[in-house]
Amino acid sequence: MKVLVLNSGSSSIKFRLFQVGAGADDWQVAATGAATRIGEPSASLKLIWTNADGATETREHAAAIGSHNDGIERIGAALQESGALGGLDELTAVGHRVVHGGEAFHAPTVVDDDVIAAIRQMIPLAPLHNPANLDGILVARELFPGVPQVAVFDTAFHQTMPRTAYRYAIPGYLYREHHVRRYGFHGTSHHYVAKQAAQMLGKPLSQCNLITLHLGNGASATAIRDGASVDTSMGMTPLEGLVMGTRCGDIDPAVHFYLCRHLGFDNETLDDLLNRQSGLMGLCGVNDMREVHRLAEEGHEDAELAIGLSCHRLKKYIGAYAAVLGRVDAVVFTGGIGENDTEMRECACAGLEAFGLVLDCEGNARVIGSAGTVSAPHSQVKVFVIPTDEELEIARQSLDAVG
Ligand code: ADP
Repeated sequence: MKVLVLNSGSSSIKFRLFQVGAGADDWQVAATGAATRIGEPSASLKLIWTNADGATETREHAAAIGSHNDGIERIGAALQESGALGGLDELTAVGHRVVHGGEAFHAPTVVDDDVIAAIRQMIPLAPLHNPANLDGILVARELFPGVPQVAVFDTAFHQTMPRTAYRYAIPGYLYREHHVRRYGFHGTSHHYVAKQAAQMLGKPLSQCNLITLHLGNGASATAIRDGASVDTSMGMTPLEGLVMGTRCGDIDPAVHFYLCRHLGFDNETLDDLLNRQSGLMGLCGVNDMREVHRLAEEGHEDAELAIGLSCHRLKKYIGAYAAVLGRVDAVVFTGGIGENDTEMRECACAGLEAFGLVLDCEGNARVIGSAGTVSAPHSQVKVFVIPTDEELEIARQSLDAVG
C-alpha cells in the first residue's frame, strides 16, 4: 500500500511517496523529489528513491515540463521507472496540499466535483496558491484514474477557533457577505507537532493545552486547547502575526493609508512591500535567519534588531496565548528556525518563569534539528523541539480520509 503526496505550487510540484506498513507508525519514504521551474526552459525533475537493495539513489535532470500536466505525468513515469512505484494499483490515495479551504472544509476531504468547485470558489481568498493546488488535483485525477484524491487544507485545523478569535472588529457584513475573518494557516504542521507533543506528554491530544510555534520562512503561533486550535497568529492571509522572512506580520493598518497618501503607494506596491520586502529582509536586507545571525555576529546593528524584534514578537504571542489558555502543558518549537535556532528559542523563553516556563539553557543548546525536551526538569510548562513533517501528516490524513 502506497500514498503519494503532491504539493503543487505555481512553478513547482514537490512530491513524496510513502510505503505504508502494517502498524500505525510504520510509514517509510519510498521516494521524494520535485519538478521545478515549470514552464521555463530550465525546468528539471529530481527524484530520490530507495532501490531494491535498500540504497538511496538520486537522479536529477533537465526535462521539458511546460505545465503541471507535464510535471505530474513525468513524476508518475519517474516513480514507475525507478521501481519506487510498481503500478497505479499500489496507490491507495493521492494527498494534495491545498492552502485555503475557507469555512467549507474542517477536515481532509476526498475530492469530487463539488469539492473541486468549492476549492475554485476559494481562489479569491488565496489567489497565489489555490489555482496551483487545484491544477495539481485536476491533473492527478486524469493521470491516476481510479485512485482517490484527497485534499488536505492548511486552514482546516483552525476551523475550531471560536468567533471571538476568528472575527475582526469590523462591520459584520464584511464577514457575512465577503468572508473577511481570520482563517489561519500551517494547520497541517501545527496538528502534526501537537500530536507528537501529546505523545511526549504521555496523554491523549484531547487533554493537551499547547502553544505551537511554526517558525520557518513563514511563521505562525497557535493556541491549542484540549487538542483543538482556539487561536492562531496568521489571519485572513498568511501576512498577519509573527515577523517572517519577507513578511511584516502584525502592523497598524493605518500605516497603509499613510503610505498611500504620503508616498502615493498603490495596492500592488503595498502588497510587494509587506509580503516580499519586509520581515527580516526589510529590517536587515537578508531573509535567511542563518545569514541574519552571521551579520549580527559581525556587529551589524540592523541584523541585531531583526533578531531582537522577532524574539519580542514571539514572546508576546507566547504570553498572549498563555493568557488565552490559562493552563499550558507545553510550548512547541518547529520549522527551520524553531528546530535549529537555539538562540531564538532561548530569547523567546527568557523571563517567562512567572508563567511556569523554565528553559534548560544547556539542554536547549544541544537540541538542533531533532526532537527533544529543552525545559528544566522542574518547569511546569514543558518546552519541546519537534521537527515538523507536513508531507507525512498529509499522507496519514489522506489514508484516514479514504478509510
Ligand atoms: P519554509 O517555511 O520555507 O518551509 P523552513 O521551515 O525550511 O522554511 O525554515 C527556513 C528558515 O529556517 C530559514 O530562515 C533558515 O535560515 C532557518 N534555519 C535553518 N537552519 C537554521 C539554523 N541552523 N539556524 C538558524 N536558522 C536556521
